[in-house]
Amino acid sequence: MFLTKTRTLVLVLFVFSTTSAQKLKKADKLIIENLKKHIEYLADDRLEGRRAGTKGEELAMDYIIGKFKEIGISAKGTEYYPQSFEINDGKQIGSSSYFTINNNSLETGKDYFPFPYSPAKKIEAAPAIAIQEADMPWFVDLAEPLEENKNNPHFDLEEYIRTNSIKAANRGASVVILYNLSSLEDKLAFNPKDKSEKLPVPVIYVSKDAAKKYFQDKTATLNIKIRTDIGEKNRIGHNVIGYIDNKAATTVILGAHFDHLGYGEDGNSMLRTGEKLIHNGADDNASGTAALIELARILKTSKAKNNNYLFIAFSGEEMGLFGSKYFTDHPTIDLAKVNYMLNMDMVGRLNDSTKVLSVGGFGTSPQWASVINPHDKKIPFVVKIDSSGTGPSDHTSFYRKDIPVLFFFTGQHRDYHRPSDDADKINYLGELHVINYINTIITALNKQNIKLAFLKTRETQTANTAFRVTLGIMPDYTYDGAGIRADGVTEGRPASRAGIKTGDVIIQLGDFPVNSMDTYMQALNKFKKGDKTKVKYKRGSETIETTIEF
Ligand SMILES: [Zn+2]
Repeated sequence: MFLTKTRTLVLVLFVFSTTSAQKLKKADKLIIENLKKHIEYLADDRLEGRRAGTKGEELAMDYIIGKFKEIGISAKGTEYYPQSFEINDGKQIGSSSYFTINNNSLETGKDYFPFPYSPAKKIEAAPAIAIQEADMPWFVDLAEPLEENKNNPHFDLEEYIRTNSIKAANRGASVVILYNLSSLEDKLAFNPKDKSEKLPVPVIYVSKDAAKKYFQDKTATLNIKIRTDIGEKNRIGHNVIGYIDNKAATTVILGAHFDHLGYGEDGNSMLRTGEKLIHNGADDNASGTAALIELARILKTSKAKNNNYLFIAFSGEEMGLFGSKYFTDHPTIDLAKVNYMLNMDMVGRLNDSTKVLSVGGFGTSPQWASVINPHDKKIPFVVKIDSSGTGPSDHTSFYRKDIPVLFFFTGQHRDYHRPSDDADKINYLGELHVINYINTIITALNKQNIKLAFLKTRETQTANTAFRVTLGIMPDYTYDGAGIRADGVTEGRPASRAGIKTGDVIIQLGDFPVNSMDTYMQALNKFKKGDKTKVKYKRGSETIETTIEF
């Protein structure tokens, strides 16, 4: 074989890399073996993408608990190792709901559905479709408003329905029954995320097929029996919490979320094909969970005993930091005695060419600079620091409690939030380096034997290029009331300039009611830079209205 210069170079590099791998210390080899076992199990199809509140999440939880026990990490959850918490999935139609016309049952969810803001009611009546009288069901064909607005892109059918149902209720309707006998599509469906306030009467939509069957003859009198029952749909997520008690005054928290997207049911998949595929989440975040287990193993025998160690595998992160927010609101240790928190989210895909490890939270304590030196040539990657204590992962919940944090992340890649985020793409040697680097930081701080000082930093705004304007608030994704609760407010942005504070709940922007993330985003889209409008928000029981300028 004729060897060109380049081919020689490649070969040498290959030999070097394999020999340096072989030179791995026994302990490092063990870590890599363990990482493979953890990630291959957690990212296996059997765990169905570990969506919070599912069987797959439970299998992962049992695995982590098994490892904690094996290592000798004691339990520090609320139910031994687990700490369960409720995840609100919005509204659902209760099984006791029914709708019959002339003793024919309509199938709930298929032939009809009650809007989520319908109160629980039982109605029996014999109305005529064409007559709208008090204390009787009123029938409304949407054909007319649809026809009138077919060329109006701003026509909001949902809003039209809600406003006119309120009017009908005020004029005596006992229930509003909507249908659409026109050829125009209405795209109406039961929206579990609709958190708008309940109306005094039920509002029901009857499908086109059922309407064709029962409502063609407007003079007909129908024998109607209806029962509406709208409830909350909840799941139970589980944080898994382990502890090493070194009888120290302060505790270091290490965390990583272990939940992922399941089949993409929660709309947070990057897959745009609509296919229901398992999102294995090897890098996001089986890699961080595996690192958490291996760091627990290392710290169990480590001499760094000036702190206790708390290990938290969070769930519900993909829903909006549910698990870490729940823990920081319901801590199982005294948060005032927490020294600092280290979060690992996606540490398994160190890029072999750029070798960049980003370390966020650098600005949350002056002491970080004493143990993190981006110019340190001895470490086998390039450290890219970011000062902000907030970002799209669980450290944010701890930063909000004035705890110094660091966030370790090996970077985005094309498999992010896709079914293709699989174990065979993990850079195990890279992850080993990240684990050893984190252990170096812990050991160095242990030597200083101090409690880190906390510093507030700027808030990272999740850049939402879709919007021309934003308010500069960090929405609280766990809030299940009507409106958008501000979990953080960025200095100098429209909301803070208007006097809005953390904890306030925005309920209206201009003329647009805000009751869910969707309606908030729709309202934002109505404005451009420089626009002035009014904003209405709740602070406790008080409702405040003021002017806001984008
Ligand atoms: Zn993640």
